[in-house]
Amino acid sequence: MEKKITALPGDGIGPEIVSSAVQVLQAIAQKYNHTFHIAVGAIGGAAIDQFNDPLPQETIDLCEASDAILLGAVGGPKWDNNPSDLRPEKGLLRIRKHFDLFSNLRPVQAIPSMLHSSPLKEENVKDVDLLIVRELTGGLYFGERNRDEENAYDTLTYSRKEIERIVDNAFQLARLRNKRLTSVDKANVLDTSRLWRQIVEEKKADYPDVEVEHSLVDSTAMKLITNPASYDVIVTENMFGDILSDEASVITGSLGVLPSASMRGDNFGLYEPVHGSAPDIAGQGIANPAATILSAAMLLQYTFELSDEAKEIEQAVARVFEQGFFTGDMAAKGTAALSTDEWTEKVIAEI
Ligand code: ATP
Ligand code: MG
Repeated sequence: MEKKITALPGDGIGPEIVSSAVQVLQAIAQKYNHTFHIAVGAIGGAAIDQFNDPLPQETIDLCEASDAILLGAVGGPKWDNNPSDLRPEKGLLRIRKHFDLFSNLRPVQAIPSMLHSSPLKEENVKDVDLLIVRELTGGLYFGERNRDEENAYDTLTYSRKEIERIVDNAFQLARLRNKRLTSVDKANVLDTSRLWRQIVEEKKADYPDVEVEHSLVDSTAMKLITNPASYDVIVTENMFGDILSDEASVITGSLGVLPSASMRGDNFGLYEPVHGSAPDIAGQGIANPAATILSAAMLLQYTFELSDEAKEIEQAVARVFEQGFFTGDMAAKGTAALSTDEWTEKVIAEI
């Protein structure tokens, strides 16, 4: 298979962790006889410094010509006081909007050797393997809003089309997994949630093999802690998904291992770690590249449909953890930590 990927390292630890993930992708390409052409583009603060624009046209053109995007992270104190159009984060918002990436996927999977870092009981998290599908381009964060000194409002609207496409996406993903879908809403109060629930009910007929349940967001927030292993795919609107996906991200422990994807309903996608640019440790060669490497595995799975190759990366990462190799953020106190490059070498050696 011959494919094009655009790598957007961004800021802080971004260049270090993207370099790791690119090396892992090339190791997979070599083993399985694929050719991945990986071009590097500028985004975020790095792009502001170079082009005075957090998402230059050159970068958009590169991404347009690619099958997928692998992103590091954007942002850092250097640009914190810039006007809003010249903030690094603006580059990320604009690229999501440009490519209409309406579906944000965050898998949370238990990796046995790191469950000691979970704040929950090990027996409650050892079987966790869930995927949160969050609507990313509609709802409260994009509605009309206003405020004065006395009053303020935000509006939450969803169109049928917006709901249908995210619900379809979630059903299709459930089909590729364990065929259980939990739709999360607040249908006892909100009309947007009632329309959401109605559309999920209508869509059930198209996916008779998928088992569906509706769950209110408040009780879901509780059950994610008391019984996270009971979920397979969770689909929900933008703000509920924002909150639940951060909640879910702590279930199995470290921020440094959580990947994500943003999709638009076909195979194209943008893949990035859940964590940020970690400016406090940037340039030291100690960042944990696992989340970005696992994001590259998602890229192989969802954009290229290379499930065996994706699994190979996931298993390589799990084995390196099992052998007791960690970067500084995860190493137990008093034990030696590997550098970003050393840890990446271990993963490549497992491939
Ligand atoms: P953002 O605002 O960009 O969403 P944030 O400022 O909330 O992100 P991060 O940049 O993710 O948070 O960093 C939070 C803490 O976690 C920092 O101390 C950072 O050093 C650490 N951290 C984040 N990612 C990693 C990583 N891959 N490896 C090691 N430490 C990390
Ligand atoms: Mg930050």
